Amino acid sequence: MEDTKSCPGPPPDNAASAPGESKQDAADQLRLLIESVTDHAILTLDLHGHVASWNPGAERIKGYRADEIVGQHFSRFYPPEAVAVNKPQRGLDVATREGRFEEDGWRVRKDGSRFWANVVITALHDETGQLRGFGKVTRDFTARYQAQERREMDRLREALRIRDDFLSVASHELRTPLTPLQLKLTAMRRALDQAPNGTVSGERISRDLDVAVRQVRKLVELVDDLLDVSRITVGQMTLERAPTDLAPLLREVVARYLPQAAQVGCSVRLEASAPVCGEWDARRIEQVMTNLISNALKYGAGKPVDIHLHTEAGLAQLTVRDEGIGIAPDALPHIFDRFMRAVSGRNYGGLGLGLYIAHQVVTAHGGDIQVRSEPGHGSTFSVRLPLAPT
Ligand code: ADP
Repeated sequence: MEDTKSCPGPPPDNAASAPGESKQDAADQLRLLIESVTDHAILTLDLHGHVASWNPGAERIKGYRADEIVGQHFSRFYPPEAVAVNKPQRGLDVATREGRFEEDGWRVRKDGSRFWANVVITALHDETGQLRGFGKVTRDFTARYQAQERREMDRLREALRIRDDFLSVASHELRTPLTPLQLKLTAMRRALDQAPNGTVSGERISRDLDVAVRQVRKLVELVDDLLDVSRITVGQMTLERAPTDLAPLLREVVARYLPQAAQVGCSVRLEASAPVCGEWDARRIEQVMTNLISNALKYGAGKPVDIHLHTEAGLAQLTVRDEGIGIAPDALPHIFDRFMRAVSGRNYGGLGLGLYIAHQVVTAHGGDIQVRSEPGHGSTFSVRLPLAPT
C-alpha cells in the first residue's frame, strides 16, 4: 500500500532558496547532465537547422569538436542521398508541425564513415509558445543494427536451407511415382507391339492400367499440395462454405482408404453415427480428413486406427488416433510447420506439407488442430471446428 502521508509535496512558499536562484541551479544541473552524457549526441539547432550547442556525446559519436561544428548546418550529418531528397528539412518540418520527429537511419561522421542512428528532433518553444529552435538527440545504434542484420541473415540462410532441402525432397517425391508409371506404360506398349494379331489380354492391360492410374493420382496429390502451399503463401486460400454433414463425408473418405488400410495391416474403427452439420468448405475439410487418415496408416502401419466424429459444445470434433511410431517431443511444437518432417525420408515418403495445409484449413474455418503423441505409442490428432462462421 502506498503511504500517501510520505509523498513529497511542492516546496513551501517560504522555502529557503530564492526562486531565481533555484531556477539557475536547475539550469546548471541540466547543463552538467548534458555535458556528462557521452553515449547520446545531444545538440540544439536554431530555427534554420544550424548547430547551436554540442555535447561531448555528439563529439564522440559524430567526431566534430564543438568549435568545428557550431554554426554549421545539421544536414552535414546526413548522407548525400538523404540530403538530395531534402530529408533534414523534412525532419524539422515534422518537428515544427507535430512537436517531435523520430527516425532510424544512416548518418555520416566527420571522417565520412556511416553509422546507424536513432534520431529524435524536438521543437523547442519559449514561454509565449514561440518556436525558438530544436533539440536533437542522436544515438549510435550501429551495433544493434548489425546484430539485427546478422539475425536476418541467419534467418535467410535457414530459409534457403529449408528451401533446398525441400527441393530435393520434392523432386524425389515427384520422381517416385513416375518410375512405375513409366514402366507400366512401356510394358503396355510392348505388349501391344508384340501381341499376335494385335490382341492383348484385357486382364493384363487392366492390371497395368490400375498401377498407372494409382501413380498418376499420387502425382496429382503431390502437385495439389504444392499448389495449395503457394496459394496459402500469397493469401489466396479461399473457403467455399456451404451447409455440410461431416459424417457421410468422413465415411466416404474412410471407405476410400480401406483397401490401403488392409494392405498395411491396419484395422480401422470409425464412430460417426450422428449427423454433424455445419457450414464448411467440404472439399477442404475432406482434405484434412484425408491427410490425418493417410498419416495414421503411413505412420501406424500394422496397428489399429480409431476415428471419431461428434458434435460437442457447438463444435464439430474429429479425432484420429493411431498406435504407430509417434512423434518425438522436440518435433511436436513444429509438427504443423511448412516442410516439417520428423522422420527420415529414406523410411517414409512425403513432402511435409499435409499437416501444414490441414492446420491452415482448420484455422481458416476458425477452428483448431492439436496433437498428442508419445514416441512408440502412437499419435492422436484432434480437430475442432465451429459449426458456423464466427
Ligand atoms: P508428410 O507425411 O508428407 O511428411 P505431414 O505434414 O503430413 O507430411 O506430416 C509432417 C510430419 O509429421 C511427418 O513427416 C511425420 O514426421 C509427422 N507425422 C504426421 N502424422 C503422424 C502420425 N500419425 N504419426 C507419427 N508421425 C506423424
